[in-house]
Amino acid sequence: MNLLVLPGDGIGPEITAVAADALRAVSDRFRLGLHLTDDVVGHESLRRHGTTVRPEVLEAARKADGLVLGPTAAFEFRDQINPSMFFRKNLDLFANIRPCRTYPGLAVKAGAFDLVVVRENTEGFYADRNMESGGSEILVTKDVAIAMRRITRVCCERIARAAFDLAMRRRKQVTIVHKANVLKVTDGMFLDECRKVAKEFPAVKVDEIIVDAMMAHAVRAPQRFDVIVTTNMFGDILSDLTAELSGSLGLGGSLNAGADHAMAQAAHGSAPDIAGRNVANPFSLVLSAALLLAWHGRRKKLKEFEAAASAIEQTVEAAIAAGEVTPDIGGKLGTRETGAAFAARLRAA
Ligand code: ATP
Repeated sequence: MNLLVLPGDGIGPEITAVAADALRAVSDRFRLGLHLTDDVVGHESLRRHGTTVRPEVLEAARKADGLVLGPTAAFEFRDQINPSMFFRKNLDLFANIRPCRTYPGLAVKAGAFDLVVVRENTEGFYADRNMESGGSEILVTKDVAIAMRRITRVCCERIARAAFDLAMRRRKQVTIVHKANVLKVTDGMFLDECRKVAKEFPAVKVDEIIVDAMMAHAVRAPQRFDVIVTTNMFGDILSDLTAELSGSLGLGGSLNAGADHAMAQAAHGSAPDIAGRNVANPFSLVLSAALLLAWHGRRKKLKEFEAAASAIEQTVEAAIAAGEVTPDIGGKLGTRETGAAFAARLRAA
């Protein structure tokens, strides 16, 4: 499997180094034959090449079997391409899969849970991916601004299908999160399409929750949820909440998946407040890398890739139980030391 590794900005290089080490360790142990190639996007690319993403990097991404993208400083790239959006859109990575679970030995406020937020990734309130050219925010006068939210049947249908397919491999429960009471046309369409797809999966139990109430339910009883499907921005916000409820945003792994490509990417941003301090939790990207291996294994019917993904998840669990973790989840180790202990544990098992 050829992987393109792009470290990104802020804490990106620190956590990407750990994820790459974990991939090498698991490749040796399970004889996966992973081949990692590095390139740059974001600030480093801007400094070296005058642009945040070069066309050659997209070409390399298309040819690779998967991407590992560190967080990028989207907010800082006002007149430059946002690399995260760029790959999601150009590779049509429409499903953002964000699993979230608690771990034995890590105290949490809301009790143990295990859920997945399935978030649409290619349209919605994200102004940078809705239009053929230009953004979907308009400055009408210097004091009046409008943001448009694009919702299409095809994108609703395919994200709903991704959620129900996933639910069939889990506890067979899907919660549709929406705001169709107010956004009657757009979220009405999303809800319609989810309900249509639900009819094809009679074994799956379905419920519908309005997004604002969902925040209360997620905090009150996250254990009642299995797969949650929602539109782009709602999913982004909700999955930060569920990651933090599981112990830390630094445990939030995610996979951006399409029909032919997939990209491992932490659920969080570039965390400039802690960048370069060797304190960032690398498990978000390590767990994202595991999702990428599992995706590849399922598609190509390669059991060793699925076994490698499980081994990474179990090793995260073991590292947390042993306290070999970063300060955000109560540990005393730095990012590098956490990574070294993790790779050693993975190789020793
Ligand atoms: P960006 O502008 O790139 O989105 P941000 O700081 O606004 O960055 P996040 O990067 O998502 O947003 O960070 C939110 C908070 O969570 C910050 O306080 C950050 O330090 C913390 N955080 C994010 N990722 C991690 C991590 N891997 N380990 C520890 N703390 C993290």
